[in-house]
Parts: sequence; structure tokens; C-alpha cells
Amino acid sequence: MFTIDGVEMINQERIKNLLLELVQIDSHSLKERDVAERIKKHCEDIGAEVEIDDAGEKVNGNSGNVIARFKGTIPGAEAIMMSAHMDTVVPGEGVKPVLDGDIIRTDGTTILGGDDKSGCAVIIETIRCLKEQNIPHTDIEAIFSICEEVGLLGAKNLDVSKLRAKYGIVFDSDDPGFLFTKGPSANHIEFKIFGLESHAGVAPEEGISAIKIAAEGIAAMKLGRIDEETTANIGVIEGGKATNITTNLVTLRGEARSLDDAKLEAQTRHMVGCLEDAAAKYEVTVAGHTTKGRVESHVTREYYAMDVPDDSRVVQLVFAAAERLGLKVQTLASGGGCDANVFNRRGIECANFGTGMRAIHTVKEWLDVKDMYASAEMALEVMKLNGEMAMSKGMRAEG
Ligand SMILES: [Zn+2]
Repeated sequence: MFTIDGVEMINQERIKNLLLELVQIDSHSLKERDVAERIKKHCEDIGAEVEIDDAGEKVNGNSGNVIARFKGTIPGAEAIMMSAHMDTVVPGEGVKPVLDGDIIRTDGTTILGGDDKSGCAVIIETIRCLKEQNIPHTDIEAIFSICEEVGLLGAKNLDVSKLRAKYGIVFDSDDPGFLFTKGPSANHIEFKIFGLESHAGVAPEEGISAIKIAAEGIAAMKLGRIDEETTANIGVIEGGKATNITTNLVTLRGEARSLDDAKLEAQTRHMVGCLEDAAAKYEVTVAGHTTKGRVESHVTREYYAMDVPDDSRVVQLVFAAAERLGLKVQTLASGGGCDANVFNRRGIECANFGTGMRAIHTVKEWLDVKDMYASAEMALEVMKLNGEMAMSKGMRAEG
């Protein structure tokens, strides 16, 4: 059917239409129900047993993760995982995709949601091709997760004991020429900076400005790109009630990331230290009562680094599939975290493969469908090769 010189091909028109369908279903994080139901239906149509798990209840969302189990054709073979996330960032409601040749973008008022509906489309199309072209394959566990964009909550709340797969691929990055095998650890940091309220015009010497402490502390911080492996940011600042009040509370929210855990800890300590040093400079005594500037820092580990070696099973599988297709795929470190960070930590060795999404998390987001086709061709080849390897292993075991 879709073969050129005996090479299996994906159906380009069909996967493009699937992407267009999925991006037009609203699915902000915590509100993935509609797209989850649609994906469930598509998976059932191609023979999966589908369950929507209870992750949504745990995070107060309206849907859980979609777990679609596709029975393989090779007895005794190990299962493989394929995964993409269903949720999008804001503003992602009422997406109107605009086609411009091979490029899909939006009307400029919303994101496209190619992040990560292109990944969802790649998985569904790949499995559809395996089925309709009768390509031998192992069991496939397809995980369509919720709430990736708000802290990888779907992956974190997935009961991995329900899965058999110990390796797989996450489809959630840009260029299909790259396989992300390393990702950073990240700390989320919340600072509460306490000053002392006073009348800014009548008794400024009886107050401590939390805004001044915050300003001095942030000014002393190394932020942005710290080194090749490390980044840091203060992203939110809140505080103050009126111009005539010395502000007694400022809240800051920031993060630090690094591929190296020691560097992450050092950067986190540095940020905390800058604010504590700034706060320590302020002290006032009013009516015999002394108040000092003060900082409360709450550091939480958002996710853990991943580091999948080039000689791992999943990377070797992708390399071999690329070679058969005459493509070049390179492994790379990402500055971002994704569900793969969580899966690796929880015993499923996986890397993150590109799907063609670009300028993500902006209203300028776009996608070149040719990249998505290439991603799906690769996914198909990976599944085919994985099946062949399982069969030859089985034959060796029997012989
Ligand atoms: Zn994503």
C-alpha cells in the first residue's frame, strides 16, 4: 500500500489531518478530557485496549493519562513504550491552524499545540501503519500523558507498575534529526522576603522594605546561563500594597537547572545566599523591639536529570533505524525537562525524539509537516526493527 521500493511508508495526508484534528481540540493542562477521549477512540479503532488512569483525580484535572496497550504479534517479546503528552500551554484554546504549503501555524492569537500533539499523531500513525501493513511488532504501551507542561504531573502520577515496558521513546522535541538523551535536574525555588511595615512618609526609619531586599538580592545573583550545563531564572515577583507603605512581604519564584547535580546545588545555594545576605543588612528597633530582614526559601526538586548512554538499547535502536533509512540522528543534551526525565527515573529507559514542533510556547509556534513525516517514518522503522530483533532473539532462544 504505502511502500516505495519495499520500504514501509506512513500516510502523510492522514497524519497531517490527525494533527489538524488534535490541535483543534482544546487541552490546556488539567483540561485534557476531550482530547483524551479522541485519542482513546483512535487507539481503540486500531485495536488497543485503552484505559484512562486516575492521575487526573490526583492533580485535580478532568482527565487521567491515556494508556493504550497494543498487543504484539511476536510471542514472548518484551513490550516497548511510546509516549507523548496531550496538554498544551496557554493560550491554547480555539486554535485555528493555518496551512501555508508544508508549514502549519496559527492565526497568531494562540499557540499551535504541535507541542505535543505532533507526538501524539506520530504514535497513532505509526501503530496504524504497523497494523494495516501487517508488520510484525512487539507489544506497545502508548502513554498519552496529562499535565506535562505544569511539572510533568501526568508522568509523575502514572502507576508504572501497570506497565511492562522497560524502554521506549518519548516524542516531544523539535528536530527529528536529534534524539535527546540528557536532560537537566531542576529545582523550583520560592522565596518569601519579610520586611517591616511602616508609613513611608511619616516613619520610614521604622520600616524595612522587602522590595529593597529583593532588589539587592536579585542584583547580586548570577542568573541566565551560568555555564554550558546550568541555567537559572527568577520568573515571578509579587509584593507591595501602596506607595506610602514600606513593603513587608515580597514573594519570588524562580528555578535553577543543571545537567550536573553538584552545580545545581551550588547555584541554588548561591541564589538563597544572595537574598539572605541582602536581608541581613536590614535591622530596625522600634519601641525596644528589634526586627531583622528575613528570607524563607523553599526549594523543591522539580525533576531529576536523565542521562541515557549512546550504547543503551534504545539509542542503539534509533541509530540502527536511522541508518536503515539513510538518515542521520544525533544524540544531544536538552536544557528542558520532559516526561522522559520522570520515566527514566522510574525505570523506563527512554530518550526524547523530535517531531517537527518549532517556536513552542509562543503564539508564533509552527510545524513543518515534512519533519513530522520524517519523525513518523523513523518511529515506524524503530518499531519494525525492534520487532525483527525480538524475533531473532526468540529464534536464538528456541534454537
Ligand atoms: Zn512538550
